[in-house]
Amino acid sequence: MGIPYEPGALQATTAESWEGLHRKVSLAFTDQMVLSYKPLAEHFRAAVQRKGSRFGQVPAIVLTVLDGKITSQCKAIDLLAEKNPAYAAALVCRAAAACPSLRLSDDGLWIGRSDPFSPELVTKLLTDRENRVESVASGNGDEMHNLETTCSQFNRAFRFEAVYIPAYVKEELRTISLTALPDVYYLDTIANALGLQDTGQVFMSRQIGKAPDGSRLFWGARERLPVVKFPDVELLEQFEPSKIYRDICSQDGPMEALRNTGGRISRNERASFLVGHAIDGDAILATVGSTWTSDGRCIYDNFTLSCFHRLMLGRNPWGAYKLSRRSLLVADLPKVYTCRAHWQGASPKSLLADFCHQHRLSEAQYTCNDTQESCNSTAGGHSLEIGHTKGLMSMNNNGISKQGNPGSSKQGPFQCKVRVGSAGNKAPTYFQSDGFFRSRNDAIQSAALNALLSYGRWSGTGCLCSYFQNQDCCKSNGDFLGSNPQDSTVYKSDESSGQSEFLSFRVIAEEDTLGDRPPPGSMVFVSYTVNLIDEGSCCNGDNSSDMLLIHDLESQSDFKFELGVGAVIGQIDACVSQATVGQTLQFCLPVEALGVLFAASSELGENRQGLVLEYTVKLLKFEEAMEERIESSHFAPPLSKQRIEFARTMINALEAKTLVDLGCGSGSLLEALLREPNTLEYMIGIDISRKALIRGAKSLSASLAKQNAAHSIQSITLYEGSISAMDLRLRSPDLATCIEVVEHMDPEPLRKLGKSILGKLVPKVWLVSTPNIEYNPVIRGLEWDPESNSLNKPGPTVFPELTDSKKLMDMETQNLRNHDHRFEWTRAEFREWASLLASQYGYQVRFAGVGGDGEDDDNSPGFATQIAVFAHNGVVFPTFCQEAGVSKCDGSDSVPTATEVEMTDKRLETEQDPVSQLKELWQWTSPAHPAAIL
Ligand code: SAH
Ligand code: MG
Repeated sequence: MGIPYEPGALQATTAESWEGLHRKVSLAFTDQMVLSYKPLAEHFRAAVQRKGSRFGQVPAIVLTVLDGKITSQCKAIDLLAEKNPAYAAALVCRAAAACPSLRLSDDGLWIGRSDPFSPELVTKLLTDRENRVESVASGNGDEMHNLETTCSQFNRAFRFEAVYIPAYVKEELRTISLTALPDVYYLDTIANALGLQDTGQVFMSRQIGKAPDGSRLFWGARERLPVVKFPDVELLEQFEPSKIYRDICSQDGPMEALRNTGGRISRNERASFLVGHAIDGDAILATVGSTWTSDGRCIYDNFTLSCFHRLMLGRNPWGAYKLSRRSLLVADLPKVYTCRAHWQGASPKSLLADFCHQHRLSEAQYTCNDTQESCNSTAGGHSLEIGHTKGLMSMNNNGISKQGNPGSSKQGPFQCKVRVGSAGNKAPTYFQSDGFFRSRNDAIQSAALNALLSYGRWSGTGCLCSYFQNQDCCKSNGDFLGSNPQDSTVYKSDESSGQSEFLSFRVIAEEDTLGDRPPPGSMVFVSYTVNLIDEGSCCNGDNSSDMLLIHDLESQSDFKFELGVGAVIGQIDACVSQATVGQTLQFCLPVEALGVLFAASSELGENRQGLVLEYTVKLLKFEEAMEERIESSHFAPPLSKQRIEFARTMINALEAKTLVDLGCGSGSLLEALLREPNTLEYMIGIDISRKALIRGAKSLSASLAKQNAAHSIQSITLYEGSISAMDLRLRSPDLATCIEVVEHMDPEPLRKLGKSILGKLVPKVWLVSTPNIEYNPVIRGLEWDPESNSLNKPGPTVFPELTDSKKLMDMETQNLRNHDHRFEWTRAEFREWASLLASQYGYQVRFAGVGGDGEDDDNSPGFATQIAVFAHNGVVFPTFCQEAGVSKCDGSDSVPTATEVEMTDKRLETEQDPVSQLKELWQWTSPAHPAAIL
């Protein structure tokens, strides 16, 4: 907000910021502020209990770090102050020295008043807490009891664990237990533990964001604070992490040299690494003193070695997500945002806010599709507070939404764009949500996630510590957006270039009765442990006795996530999607985090092999995605089986030899066709999701291995690519199928689908199935009431252009069957879409369906799944298409004229065929018919 990042503006505001800092520092010592509870009352209370020359004084670092207003003033003067509290403290001392009402101690570590505190103030300060305690108690009937417990809680000593980080890198980290005695200033306790003479020498970091709330690093200040001249700022010496790490790791590096050379305190590399600036001497990581309860108790927590290693594993911005007190499993940012219920940890929006802040980018601005496009970018584009435009709606990072027209509809579907401004005068960058969402917030989160992913790719995910990213940012002078991150949607499609599919894992235990494998999209429940172990003992199966367990980092007994959508790190997804219920799998991943290697280097000794994370995951149970649950609980056989059976009947009726399954997902249709007799010889599956295809390839391989060729299939090929951009390699199959695919497609690919399939692939028959939204009330157990159900009227055409507010309302109330569905069509909409395509490309179309009785009139909801059967002109519809509730397309005048067809063909010829975009991912050919392919 108030951070100047425009270089031009800096000079003017620095002077103002100095002004501000002076004011804030002197204000902190006024009677009123001293007495007011937050944020420093406890420190002033300790100050007036102190005897001698320190009476009434507060360590400079306390003011610097614990008073948020002072912190932000320092930051405004120089961003470096945000990164290095020692530097910020120097600014504060400088300001205090310039304040007539304040006095800086000779060593420059303490700040007090020029006029001592009045005795009244001291008494008030000391009795204040007792008053508070009493007032708490007096409100209650059980007065005496209450007073007692509150007081005794306050007076009770407490113990807490902290991690001690010796400066000497060969000395191991250790957990220490500290005891805070009643009425002892907690910083005295820390000073004591650090072996410091004077509590003013205790320095503390900002809150360590990815650690438990209120965690800070404490260390001893240098003898002198850095010199700060007003208004020029002398920069601290450069701190070069990579070099230091190299030194630490090199066999005969200057480790010894780092040890107390010439009486000077040595650099604490591990602590420096953790906080991102130079720290000398031993340090302590503890969760204490950041918060106090209203009755004056200090809030504390244990900080263990596990916490420490988890912290060191952190990435940024991923780290913020990962260490959201949830799980290591979610180490990477998920690739997609589905809905809030499926998201673990801090929301993408708040991560993006942090990210922008860290990288000195202007606040992210969100615009939803219910905002008119008239945001005038000429006005600097900064403010979206253009409330005068009718119906305009904008949001800023605080989630405050402003609605120009309060009466305007809040109905979906929502699409969102986020604008991230770069430093300097570069154009801002925009990121979009993945398609449409039913909740505005989901659309916003999706856009924020896409921004994070793009920046993540740009900055590389290889290096793990926020530290390095901050350094990079500094080097490039805050000009983080130098090379524009690509369109976020591009990113999504090349998502899994990682090795997750080649992950090797082993089954280490399974229950007698093995369950099913969870399909993608299901909610899986796992228990897991993650250990940090040395490389030699990883997953080698022989359970060697010399296995050296370093640390158990994390375990959870009931962790759930959505499978196959990138909600957790890819390896976990891959592992769990191949597990059956009751199985326990184990795999190892190399530790990429420099910090962990660093911290553990001493434990590993001379013959250090490296560290790995050993994941042990047990699949406890899974819940199928809502759509599958519905389909198998409401229909017998399940709706998915009925669709497959419909396709198989079609194949046999056509005596089809070649099938192209468009949007085959993980191959459920193809696999079923291996089991049931049919006329096919060549099967091809195409999907845009590599993950789904890999899964498909695995299960097809498994089925093929089991079978003794009861089928006549000669080859199966899986291609990765979009079915909206078919190339001419695959021409004229006997049958093409789109089973439950169109409703998963975004408007743009969907618009191109007809031409791609009917114009290029030109199947003899094309079978398209999709949910019939009119059937949803039946599924949900509601009475079908034609009077009240407004869906049963011919609706407007294609969903994304929805303008009919009535329809939008239905959308909100009518739960779609699957959160990944972009829409679900009414019968009328489906027919209109299909009939138009048929007429454009010289096809005939008929409509059928499965599930429900399929009575096709206005008094019935129709089929649960509606199916369109397109037949190329001249191809005779299979006889079964005339039966079993199949109704003929009513628009018989939609048969195209010869010229129309000709025009369509002309158009096709003139357009260049795109470079082949289908990637062959997997192929199987029958041993009996080698190399047979379409
Ligand atoms: N037909 C399968 C999967 C249906 S789920 C079955 O019935 O089990 C829908 C599938 O369509 C998903 O696997 C999704 O990846 C795929 N899909 C969506 N848009 C696509 C596109 N443009 N090109 C190819 N596949 C697409
Ligand atoms: Mg679907």
